[in-house]
Amino acid sequence: QYILAIETSCDETAVAIIKDGKEIVANVVASQIESHKRFGGVVPEIASRHHVEEITFVLEEALKQAEMTVEEMDAITVTEGPGLVGALLIGVNAAKALAFAHDKPLIGVHHIAGHIYANRLVKEFSFPLLALVVSGGHTELILMREHGKFEVIGETRDDAAGEAYDKVARTLGLSYPGGPQIDKLAAQGNETIDLPRAWLEEGSYDFSFSGLKSAVINTIHNATQRGEELKKEDLAASFQASVVEVLTEKTYQAAKEFDVKQVIVAGGVAANKGLREKLQEKFMSESIDLAIPPLSLCTDNAAMIGAAGSIAYDQGHRAGWDLNANPGLDLERYGERDKN
Ligand code: ATP
Ligand code: MG
Ligand code: FE
Repeated sequence: QYILAIETSCDETAVAIIKDGKEIVANVVASQIESHKRFGGVVPEIASRHHVEEITFVLEEALKQAEMTVEEMDAITVTEGPGLVGALLIGVNAAKALAFAHDKPLIGVHHIAGHIYANRLVKEFSFPLLALVVSGGHTELILMREHGKFEVIGETRDDAAGEAYDKVARTLGLSYPGGPQIDKLAAQGNETIDLPRAWLEEGSYDFSFSGLKSAVINTIHNATQRGEELKKEDLAASFQASVVEVLTEKTYQAAKEFDVKQVIVAGGVAANKGLREKLQEKFMSESIDLAIPPLSLCTDNAAMIGAAGSIAYDQGHRAGWDLNANPGLDLERYGERDKN
């Protein structure tokens, strides 16, 4: 079974070919980071235009890498949401055109289901499993008892983890995306500044990062007013320690409560060195299997969309020609959708 997958939800134009849901045959990602850097974040209009310009080349490159043709594919899968509507539309329409022209089944995939399924390109899932999704727009703990079904047991009440990283990076004068840079600085610094941890109510698996973000901004502001020198490395290390501690602890508590066999980590922030180390340390002596994808599969790519799309294909899901970009697509409802 060969699945052709397209991802254009944000600022990466990506096409991949996945064999049997687990094997990457081709994986091409054209990043637009350079174009958005001078604006300090993703500019939707610019993103859409780039996707239009890139999609054909990225598709051709993926087919070339695989030495295959669209004719040889069993289905065309594409991210239908969530994401930027103008960006999603480019991928959805490219997928529709390909599926229509080559008479192939068309399948819509939820972007976060994709981030989760990136792990299946590395390791088989063991249910029940708990997924910690930490990306630019999402911070969620998701329980899965079977393929394709998702129960959100906790989520952020304000900023996503990646968003907090990017905002703090911005106040430190670092360029977009700031997450990887804070990660690097944190490794060179010490946790010398006392910052809050948002545990919320006892037993809650929700998250909150806006208070921490404000605390960092206040710390910088106060130091500037007093004319004190603040070490960026130490601030980064202290901020990262707070984020990582809360993420790790809540994941651990939920894994215990729901008695899961496996914990998987997904999304761009799963690339964070501090988080990867802390989770490994925490789950080392546990009988729970911990899966973290390689760095290249943490941030946006189409291989993960192909992995999730392959399961949807096996389960009989087919989209109609009315498939549309859905910027607010809900993950639980996506898992409950009807088969066409
Ligand atoms: P979503 O998946 O929620 O729609 P997105 O697709 O924009 O959002 P991803 O591509 O999954 O997000 O991840 C990008 C985010 O990951 C950015 O916020 C970036 O700063 C963050 N990130 C990437 N690498 C690291 C790292 N090493 N440490 C911390 N954050 C990181
Ligand atoms: Mg991105
Ligand atoms: Fe993403």
